[in-house]
Amino acid sequence: MSESPQDMRIDPARAQALISQLGAVKNRVAALAGGQNVRLVAVSKLKPINDILALHQDPARHAHFGENYAQELSQKADLLPRSIQWHFIGGLQSGHCKNLAKIPNLFCVSSVDTPKKARLLSTARAAAIAADPALAKLSVHVQVNTSGEEAKSGCAPGADTVALCREILEECGAGLNLLGLMTIGAIARSKATTAETENEDFVALKEQRDVVARELGLAPDRLELSMGMSEDFEGAIAMGSGEVRVGSTIFGQRPAKADAKIKE
Ligand SMILES: *Cc1c(COP(=O)(O)O)cnc(C)c1O
Repeated sequence: MSESPQDMRIDPARAQALISQLGAVKNRVAALAGGQNVRLVAVSKLKPINDILALHQDPARHAHFGENYAQELSQKADLLPRSIQWHFIGGLQSGHCKNLAKIPNLFCVSSVDTPKKARLLSTARAAAIAADPALAKLSVHVQVNTSGEEAKSGCAPGADTVALCREILEECGAGLNLLGLMTIGAIARSKATTAETENEDFVALKEQRDVVARELGLAPDRLELSMGMSEDFEGAIAMGSGEVRVGSTIFGQRPAKADAKIKE
C-alpha cells in the first residue's frame, strides 16, 4: 500500500449515499436468500478507490469487490487495504493470469474459460503460496457461455465445461479451489428477469451445475452458482444463486473507460 487510506479524501455525502445504496441491496438480497448464504460482490469497475474505501471502512465494512480490468484491479489492490477480498470478473486473457494470481488478496477469478488459463493461474498462485505460505489458494468459477452469443466469453456448455472443471479439480489443486460456475447471460433476458420469471441463462447454468456434479461425482451443492447483476439479481437468487455481482445499483452509472479515474 503506497499511502495510508486515512490520507484519502472521502466526501461524506458520497459515502452516505454509497452506504445507503449498498444497504438497500443487502436487504433485498437477504429478503430473497431466506437464510441461505448469498455472497454480494460490489462491482467497482471504473469507480475510484475513494468509493471502495467508503464501503470497506466503518460502518459498512463490506469486503467483496469485483473488477473487470486486470491492470485497474492491480492498481486498486496496491492502494487499498489487504482486508479487501477482490474478485476478477472480467474477460480473462492468458497474458494477465500470472500477474492476477500474484495479488495476495485476490479471492476469486470468476471468468476461467479454458484449461490453459486455469493452469497459468494455478502455477502462478502455487508459486506465490510457496513464497508466502499464509496465502490462500485462489478460488475460481468456470464461466459458462449459457446464451451462446459469440461475443460473450465463457466455456461452451456440456463436455467442455465438464472437462474444464475436471482439469481444475484434478490438475490445479496446488493453486486453485473450484467454487462453481458463473454466467453473465444475455442482456435482453436479464432485463426481462423478475423474482417470478425464470431467466433462461440461469436455468441453463443450474443445469450445467447438475451435469458437472453428476459427471464428476460431486454433490450438486458442492458447486455454487455465480449469477445475477443489477438488473436481475433477485430472480437469480430465487433460482439458487450463491453469489450476485451488483455494480450500478450500488455505485451509480459508470463513466466511460477513458474517463475513469483510479483515485479522486
Ligand atoms: C459489470 C459487471 C457486473 C455488474 O453489472 P451491473 O449491471 O452494473 O450490476 C456483473 N458481472 C459482470 C461480469 C460484469 O462485467
